[in-house]
Amino acid sequence: MDFAQLKAFRRELHRNPEPAFLEIGTAARITEAIDGLPVTVLTGKDAHDLSPVVNYPSPRTLDAWEARAIESGVAAERARYFRKHGTALVVDVAGLRPGPRWGLRVDIDALPMRESADPAHFPAAHGFASVNGAMHACGHDAHATIGVGLLHRLADRDFAGSLRILFQPAEEGVRGAQTMIDAGVADGIDTMLAVHMAGDMAVGSVVGSFTGGLATRKLKVDFTGEASHAAGSPETGRNALLAAAMSALAIMAIPRFSSADTRLNVGTLVAGDGVNIVPSTAVMTCEARATVDEVADELVDRIASIVEGAARAQGVGAALAVMGRSTTVTPDEELVERIVEAAKAHPDIVEVIRTRPYAGSDDANLLIRHVQERGGQGAYLMVGAGSPGPHHSATFEVREESIPIGIDVLESLIRRD
Ligand SMILES: [Zn+2]
Ligand SMILES: [Zn+2]
Repeated sequence: MDFAQLKAFRRELHRNPEPAFLEIGTAARITEAIDGLPVTVLTGKDAHDLSPVVNYPSPRTLDAWEARAIESGVAAERARYFRKHGTALVVDVAGLRPGPRWGLRVDIDALPMRESADPAHFPAAHGFASVNGAMHACGHDAHATIGVGLLHRLADRDFAGSLRILFQPAEEGVRGAQTMIDAGVADGIDTMLAVHMAGDMAVGSVVGSFTGGLATRKLKVDFTGEASHAAGSPETGRNALLAAAMSALAIMAIPRFSSADTRLNVGTLVAGDGVNIVPSTAVMTCEARATVDEVADELVDRIASIVEGAARAQGVGAALAVMGRSTTVTPDEELVERIVEAAKAHPDIVEVIRTRPYAGSDDANLLIRHVQERGGQGAYLMVGAGSPGPHHSATFEVREESIPIGIDVLESLIRRD
C-alpha cells in the first residue's frame, strides 16, 4: 500500500468510527484490505473469548451498528459475521526463515463522542469527519492502518520468524485485551509490541516505549431497591438512588496513598424512574487507578466495602462487577534499544526518545505482561502524530505522515532480526 492507499483506508475508518465491541465495519474493512495476502486469519472464538465480558452491547445496539456498517459500504455478509462472532482479528504472517515470534497489538475501537465540525479541523475540511456520532479521537484508526500496512509490507515474507497482529476491540474501557488473552492468542509470542499515536508529539518523533502507566479497574455497580409512592408510602420504598449517591461521595473520599499515585472517578450514575417514585434502581460506573497494581486492588476492596455499607443502610441490593482492567508496564531494555536503533536509522525521524512515562492506562500492558511472565519481552512504542487537540477531544487529529513512519519502524525492527 502506498501513502495514498494508506490514507484512503485510514479515512474510511475515520469516517465510520465504532465504539467498543461494535467494530463490525472496521473488522470487515480490515479483512477486505488484507484479502489475498499470504496470511492466516483467526476470528470469533479463536481470536477472543467474549463470555466473561460485563456490559457487552445489547442485541439491539449490535443490530444498529451492523446496519450502519452495511450502510457505510461494507459487505453485508462480513458485517453479519462480525456482529455475530465478535470483532477481534488475529492475523499471522510467517517469514521464510526461522526466528522469533513477534506479536503486535493494534487497537481498533473509537470513542462515543462527537467530532468537531469546525472547518479548521482537518477531517471536517477534507470530508472524512465521522458520520455516525462516534469519533476516532485516540488514533486507533491510524493503529489499524499501521497493522494493515505492515501486513502488506511483509507480504514478501522475507524475514525471520513470524508476526502475529492482534487487531483488538474495546481498548477504551480496557476490556478487549483480556478477551484475547483468554482465547490464548498471546501464548507463544516471544516479543510483544504495541504501538500508539502520540498526539502531543511532533511528526518525526518516536518513543521507544511507554513506561509505568496506571493499573486500572473499571467497575459497574447495580443497586436494586424497591419502588413506592413518594408521598403515600415513602417508608416502604428502598432507595437505590440514595445508596448510589452515598457510595459516590464516599468513593471520592477514599484517602490518597503514600505508597502510590492514585486516581478515583465516579463517571456515571443513572437512577430512578420518575419524580414521584422512590427510586428502585441505580447503575453507577466508577474507576480506580494506581501506579502500583496492589494499590489498585486495595482501592477496589475499599469501593466494595463502601458499596456494601451504603446498600445496607438503604436496604437495597448491590452487585459490583469489574468491567475492565489493566496493569502497569515495564518494557524490556534490550528491546527498547532495538526500537531506538530502528527509529534512529529512519531518515524522517528527527527525535528519538528512549522511554516516556505514561499517565494513562492501556490494556496492551496486559498482553505485554502476559508475554513477559512467560519469558518473552515487550515494549510499547509511540509515534508522534502532531495533533492540535488532546487525545479524547473533539479536535484530536492524526497527521497522516505519521502512519508510514510507524509502519517503517516496525518493519525494520522485524526485518533486521
Ligand atoms: Zn484513548
Ligand atoms: Zn488509544
